[in-house]
Amino acid sequence: MKRISSIFYKYIQKLDEDLKMSDLTRHAAISDLTSEFMKTRRGIKGPGNVSAQLIDCVINKEENWVEFQYRSGATHPDEEHSKLSTPDLGLKKNPSGVYIQRLRILDFFDWLDVFEGEIITPDEIKEILDVSNIKVFCSCPSYQYQGFNYYISDVFDGSVYPTSIPATDRKNDNGTVIGWKSRHGSGDGLICKHLDLIMAAIAFWRNNMASMLTKKLKDRNYI
Ligand SMILES: [Zn+2]
Repeated sequence: MKRISSIFYKYIQKLDEDLKMSDLTRHAAISDLTSEFMKTRRGIKGPGNVSAQLIDCVINKEENWVEFQYRSGATHPDEEHSKLSTPDLGLKKNPSGVYIQRLRILDFFDWLDVFEGEIITPDEIKEILDVSNIKVFCSCPSYQYQGFNYYISDVFDGSVYPTSIPATDRKNDNGTVIGWKSRHGSGDGLICKHLDLIMAAIAFWRNNMASMLTKKLKDRNYI
């Protein structure tokens, strides 16, 4: 029997619409089908601490967030790829076969104020990362067209570039229902395999994230 993860418990009960890093760990937020895709990818490209790279941390004090950006190469680099353009979420060619994952930490500077007068080290930053509400995004087509963006936008307000368009089904010539909506179940997946693999390795990544952000905050005299 499929265990009900905390995030789907929140989803079903609509208890708490906030989304936190801990909601997306342990492969808790992917559908059974994405789980198969994720395992294939992990077999080819390695786990999320190997198959992704942390490339930047963007600081936006005015909007009170910081955003970690990762890059992940396509699972099958020899095939043709497309990616989502933003903010319109249309498709464009992706000859590099690279997708960008975003993990945005909300209300960051409010949390930083809690530590006013204290010395901020990566340990304090990690505390903030753990308690903050987040938004995510991946530029892979699956994130939008397989319906994950719809659910994570609609239920948790958890997408950097939200959408109101769900995945759909259609009937083929034999009358069989085909499409991503039924293949993933109804709302049974909130993120793609790229985000899932990063979040599954977040215990590794949060050290790198905290170090990178601490240095940038110091460089800009925010701490
Ligand atoms: Zn993705």
